[in-house]
Amino acid sequence: MEGGGSNKRVVVVGGGAAGSLIARTLQFGADLVLIDPKDYYEVPWAALRCMVEPAFAQRTLIEHKDYLGNARVVTSTAVKVSEREIVTSEGRCIPYDYLVIATGHPNTFPTTRSERLKEFQESYEKIKASNSVLIVGGGPTGVELAGEIAVDFPEKQITIVHKGSRLLEFVGPKASEKALAWLTSRKVQVLFNQEISLEQLDDTQTEFVTSEGVKVRADCWFNCIGKGVGSSWLTEGILHGCLNERGQLMVDEHFRVKGKENIFAIGDITDIREMKQGYIAHKHALLAAKNLKLLLEGRSESDLHRYKQGSAIAIVSLGRKQAVAQLPFLTTIGYIPGYIKSRDLFVGKTRKELGLDPSGL
Ligand SMILES: Cc1cc2nc3c(=O)[nH]c(=O)nc-3n(C[C@H](O)[C@H](O)[C@H](O)COP(=O)(O)OP(=O)(O)OC[C@H]3O[C@@H](n4cnc5c(N)ncnc54)[C@H](O)[C@@H]3O)c2cc1C
Repeated sequence: MEGGGSNKRVVVVGGGAAGSLIARTLQFGADLVLIDPKDYYEVPWAALRCMVEPAFAQRTLIEHKDYLGNARVVTSTAVKVSEREIVTSEGRCIPYDYLVIATGHPNTFPTTRSERLKEFQESYEKIKASNSVLIVGGGPTGVELAGEIAVDFPEKQITIVHKGSRLLEFVGPKASEKALAWLTSRKVQVLFNQEISLEQLDDTQTEFVTSEGVKVRADCWFNCIGKGVGSSWLTEGILHGCLNERGQLMVDEHFRVKGKENIFAIGDITDIREMKQGYIAHKHALLAAKNLKLLLEGRSESDLHRYKQGSAIAIVSLGRKQAVAQLPFLTTIGYIPGYIKSRDLFVGKTRKELGLDPSGL
């Protein structure tokens, strides 16, 4: 068993949008450990820009140690939660007094920042060398990647193969239609209601057949299918009964896992019925941090803050200058939402929230 010290031990599992922010916020009030399979936080909504401009990733891949000067980072995957400790894939046992689960989505990214930088460079070379690109999946990742390529490499033939009947199913049909019109005006071909089986695909393949028998030729392809919830590791251990049928962790209004006094869950893994967005995951992180601080000070349950949902906004970028936005009473496309998101993809803002120079210098 690892650990020690006089402070209460807080363990945060998952160093994504929510986990990185809560860890930064709590690092001086507790003996804090962050467990993440990578040694860096990757700004998720900036990844597609990095595929057409690898140098952008210098600002979007942030080593955990750069914003966690007073915490310990364990680069590993958590595999089990027990009453008082977390077990990692190497069999390490990390004790906690308070636990925060923030494993929104699983990922298969490389462990180190330098390997991830290399991966972006390789994707860029691949796109640059190809005349045609196949994108599998028409959710936010597929649409944003198509937008980045269509703007930076307008001569490439892009095909999106999408299982559903409309793009961007996490927002309303108006936003889907606007995104489709934008893409088709840039000669992106979109095939709906069909799939490409990824199991037999390798990197050298250039001929593809969809489940509807449509043949697609492409010099390279990218898997942009959504990743699901990062909770399969919780099916063993003390939290298995706290998962709903969608694999989300059930939480109360204070972000505590239902029935557990010292375990919190924040971000996309929670069962809160709201749009799953990073800026909302940040709100969870800040409120849960406040509540944890109160508990660490020995304050009573009645002092804990309650979470109130706000109205949700979604902006999907379409290249460097435009975007489609779904606001509470309006769905719009063009340069105004593009001005808000697509220029910097909130990277400066995110870096600032982690106490870092927005410019990355
Ligand atoms: C293309 C795209 C564009 C988006 N654009 C926006 C946008 O403009 N604005 C916005 O607000 N949101 C946006 N989002 C949504 C946003 O990215 C998510 O809502 C947000 O990342 C959720 O944060 P999270 O911390 O809950 O999960 P994640 O950010 O997914 O982080 C989960 C972390 O947990 C780690 N993890 C997983 N399993 C384990 C384990 N067993 N042990 C240890 N660690 C583990 C992962 O490695 C990862 O670091 C976008 C998403 C996509 C895909």
